Order: sequence, then structure tokens, then C-alpha cells
Amino acid sequence: MSGAPFDAAVLANAATAALRAYDPGHDLPALRRRFGPAIAELGSNENPLGPSPRALEAMHAALTGAWRYPDPRGLALKSALSARLGVAIERIALGNGSHELLMLLAQCFADAAHSVVFPEYGFAVFPIATAAAGARPIRVPAFPRDHASAPYGHDLDALAAAVRADTRIVYLANPNNPTGTWFDDDALARFLARVPRDVLVVVDEAYHEYVDAPGLSGAMRFADRHPNLVVTRTFSKAHALAGLRVGYLVADASTVAVIERLRESFNVNHVALAGAEAALADGGHLERVRAFNRSEREWLRAALGARGYRALPSQTNFLLVDLARDAAEFERHLFECGVIVRPMGGYGLGHTVRIGIGSRAENQRLLDALP
Ligand code: PMP
Repeated sequence: MSGAPFDAAVLANAATAALRAYDPGHDLPALRRRFGPAIAELGSNENPLGPSPRALEAMHAALTGAWRYPDPRGLALKSALSARLGVAIERIALGNGSHELLMLLAQCFADAAHSVVFPEYGFAVFPIATAAAGARPIRVPAFPRDHASAPYGHDLDALAAAVRADTRIVYLANPNNPTGTWFDDDALARFLARVPRDVLVVVDEAYHEYVDAPGLSGAMRFADRHPNLVVTRTFSKAHALAGLRVGYLVADASTVAVIERLRESFNVNHVALAGAEAALADGGHLERVRAFNRSEREWLRAALGARGYRALPSQTNFLLVDLARDAAEFERHLFECGVIVRPMGGYGLGHTVRIGIGSRAENQRLLDALP
């Protein structure tokens, strides 16, 4: 028997050995106890209006059925999505959040023989999914800070040029987290025309419902012409069901069939399926969410600007504020006032913080607490 203490880290496979655990940020339950109702939780891009009352009702009703396993096909939700999006059910996969689907895509389609291309400052899950699959990451520099329309945004020309013969996946986020940047349909069309058909182009549209920029209707319209296109979306943001964990993707039926081989059969729970289906049916609530977010975001952006803080243009429910100096002290100051925002050092954007659009009271608390 060896005297060395047991350490499973040395047993981790190569892909996992290269990873660090997700940084969950602050201990929010502890902070809620400390600050009570005076807290402003602006760190996780959640929707302050909450879910549709119809979704809440449906979830309550579904609780009595939670002793059974959920429908492993998620057929009721998929049918509703199919009707809403105008795509066949066979082209839809459901995930435990879109996070799970982004991970599954890499696990199903890439391994050590492949590379995966994604943008600098792109959503954090892209490099994690790549590493978990043991694939080679190709990180493509983003637009510079002084770019006219998309500071820190995706450089689609450079991303297309980075695709190699061994590339299996390109990940894009539109709009992107944490930058809030976006690209329009024409830019995506040009990009898709340049990428070979044997490379999956994954467009993460977690914030799609918030978008209203001209010329940006989303990737879904290209799905018929480009079978290698995969679009992921979520119920976590505009539908305000982040705690339930429901996301979906739309892709070619053959892509979905591969994902189904690895997907955990009961990955989306019974209550979540019911809540998401009801949320989808409540267009009025979604419209109120969109309108509130748009006006509140622009109000907050202007108010920050008036106080000398540069918030980048955003098509999402958050703002990236560029402090042009290390953001750690700024974040700590707000934290001590009970205003929780996210420093972006982990993305290589240590001079920025990401601030979610909260309720008017939360946003005012942020403004009042600014140093
Ligand atoms: N994509 C982007 C760009 C995100 O910001 C997030 C959540 N922060 C996700 C995907 C994952 O969301 P979920 O797993 O809740 O669907």
C-alpha cells in the first residue's frame, strides 16, 4: 500500500485533466441572506419579469405527475416548437439547457483527430465542449476594441479562414455572451457559403428573442439550404425558465439522429417540459418581456454613459461595460453595496464587467451604487 494520499486528479482522462471547473461566481443564497430584498442580482443574465403566469400554472399542474419519468421524446414540446418554427419534429433535439446541447455536439462529432473553431470572447462553453471532446481548439481573434459596429465581436472572415481539413465544428453565438455583439443575416449567409458542408456550423441563439436589429432575423432561415447548420436556443433567457434547464436545437434530421445516440433519455424533466410548452404558447408575455428589455436596456445604457461608463451596444438582456482599467475593484465596490455583476477576467476581458438588465429598482440600485 502506498502512503501517498489518494488523488483522483491523476486518474482523469487527458481531456478532463486539461479542464478547470466552472466558476459559479458568488454564493448567491448566502448573499440573499446577507442583503435581503436590497440585493440586485445582475450577474447571470436572468429575466427580471419572470416566466409567463401560464407557464407557472402548467408547472404546478405537472408536479403531480413528477413521480413518473418524463416523456423521453419530449413530443408535446417538440410539436409546439415544430409548429412555431415551421420545421419537422425530426429536426429538433431537446437539451437540459442549451449548454447540454452545445456539449453533446462536440462529444458526438469531434475527437482527438479533429479541430473545433470558435471566436475569442465567444461563449465560455465553446472551449469547454472542445476540450471535453479531446479535440484541438482553434481560437480566432475577435474584432478589436475600437471596431465600428462590433467591438470584441466575431470576425466571421477570420473564422471562415481558420477552418482546416480536420475541422468538424465551428461555434458562433449570435448575439454573443459576454460581448452582446451580433452579426446580421447577410454576414451569416456569406460565412455559410465559405464553410464546407462537412463542417457543422453551430449558431448559439440563446438571446434570439431579444433581438430587434435590422437585418437580423436569425440563422433558422438558412437551415434548409445548409444542412450542416445547427441552431441552438433556450428557454432560460426571454422565457425566464433558467432554473428549469430547457434548451433545444434545430438541425438536419441526420444530425439530430446522431445526437439522440448520446443524449440521456430523460434529460429534460417533466415539470420543465410542461413549463416550456406553456411559455411558448404565451406570446403576449414574451412581447412584454421584449419591450421591457429593449427600453430598460437603452435607458440603463444612456444612464451609465451619463455617468462616464461606456456600455457597448447590445442586442441581449445585458450590457458589457468597458472600464478601460482592471474591473476587480469596481466589481468589489458594487458587491459591498449588494449589487452583483460579473467581472469578465475569465474571458480575457479583465477591464470589463457584464451587467444584466434587472428590474427598474435593481437598475436604479446599480446606478446609485456606482463609484
Ligand atoms: N449560450 C449563451 C450565449 C449563453 O449566454 C448561455 C447561458 N448563459 C447559454 C448558451 C446556455 O444557456 P442554458 O444552458 O441555460 O440554455
